[in-house]
Amino acid sequence: MKTLLALLLMTPPAALHAADAPKPASTLRAGAGAVDITPKEFPMNMPGGHSANMASGVNDPLHSRALVLDDGQSTLAMVVVDNLGAGPDVLGEAKAIAAARTGMAIDKMLISSTHTHSGPSAGAGEGSPAPAVAYRKVFVEGVAESIVKAHAALRPAAIGAAAHPLPDEVFNRRWYLKPGKMPLNPYGKLDTVKMNPGTSPDVLDRPAGPTDPDITILSVQDAKRKPLALFANYSLHYVGGAPAGRMSADYFGEFARVMPSRLRTEESFVAMMSNGTSGDINNIPFGVIRPPREPFEQIRIVAQKAADTAWLAHRKIEKHRADVRLGMRQREVTLKYRKPTAEQVADASAVVAIKDKAAIEKLPRLAQNYARSTIAASERPEETLTVKVQAIRIGDFAVCGIPFETFVETGLELKKRSPFPQTMVIGLANGRHGYLPTPEQHVLGGYETWLGTNVVQEDASVIIVTNLLEMLAELANAK
Ligand SMILES: [Zn+2]
Repeated sequence: MKTLLALLLMTPPAALHAADAPKPASTLRAGAGAVDITPKEFPMNMPGGHSANMASGVNDPLHSRALVLDDGQSTLAMVVVDNLGAGPDVLGEAKAIAAARTGMAIDKMLISSTHTHSGPSAGAGEGSPAPAVAYRKVFVEGVAESIVKAHAALRPAAIGAAAHPLPDEVFNRRWYLKPGKMPLNPYGKLDTVKMNPGTSPDVLDRPAGPTDPDITILSVQDAKRKPLALFANYSLHYVGGAPAGRMSADYFGEFARVMPSRLRTEESFVAMMSNGTSGDINNIPFGVIRPPREPFEQIRIVAQKAADTAWLAHRKIEKHRADVRLGMRQREVTLKYRKPTAEQVADASAVVAIKDKAAIEKLPRLAQNYARSTIAASERPEETLTVKVQAIRIGDFAVCGIPFETFVETGLELKKRSPFPQTMVIGLANGRHGYLPTPEQHVLGGYETWLGTNVVQEDASVIIVTNLLEMLAELANAK
């Protein structure tokens, strides 16, 4: 009896096989949520420079913004947090809490940091100043809560994706210089290219790489076509120029604040701007004349232009679709740590040993900083670093997550070789393990390639691209 009933249930009525049968109802659901993760206790250091930079308060709030998608089979989260670069430890804690509260799988969560340089550290350990230790908890709870909130808000939804260029706010920051203009690097040697070489036409020759002008968006609407969320991506390091000593979410936060006005929508709508592949891209107008700005003004200008561009991209979406399939892959990729040679360690030890102030001043800029990095790299007990890379499929749209300050060349390559018509590449996703120059850029030298700024093997970007292309192919071929 039981078997017969099961058979009856498994066999669809004949009518459903007919050509005029209604398509199965869409199962796509989406939810979005934002949680304030602004520190409450000060002073707090804002990491991101070579020396301490204490904040005594905030200019504008920091948030964790989450988008959760569900197609009835898979549930996944895409989260953007206002932070310089949260590490896998704190993000892992946030994911575990969110998983426990929602039933979602930990490996179906992509959490990326915006890379605002005017935010606190999220990963303070024991022995850190009290405000930093307190903030770790605020951060972990807030990030988890944003996912829980988005998950609780799941409702029938439709999505669309598009891109539109904003070329005038992205500049490749690595430059070939005019003859005789290259200063010594921290090792007392000459690089072929220099990061942030100033804006003087007497010094600048030509940039050492491209830019990616596109703002790519994933737009989410509810069943009544009301905007629910907009997840954007732009390959711009950050803007900077927040008021001194004040925390700020930089243009990422300002974009999220103004974007609702572009879509004439309400408070429940959540916009978020993720960092693309911006390891060698910034907002300094090399070779372009820009008037001086008051604090926060350039952040506001870039955010407005980015929101306008996201709106132009939004207009290109012909139809938001509910009949999309979701998929997500996560791989752990093991990379070799870069090790200095015996000669490099000997040189570094000699530089660190210099104590005479006048002699230190004669050293190349940051010589002792990088000498200490070289020694630390030689003493590191681990030989390898295992990192998470992720690929997501949302219908015809793909997303890649890379836990490094990824070079723009890598993002452009993935977009070009992806089997999907539109691909978004998010840097600083699920961790921040330094810079990820391409092997070609390693040859040219410069800040991002120096040992300490970069910590993994020089072909790491190639290994990561190979893995991501395999993962995208798996998602494209999945039945
Ligand atoms: Zn950076």
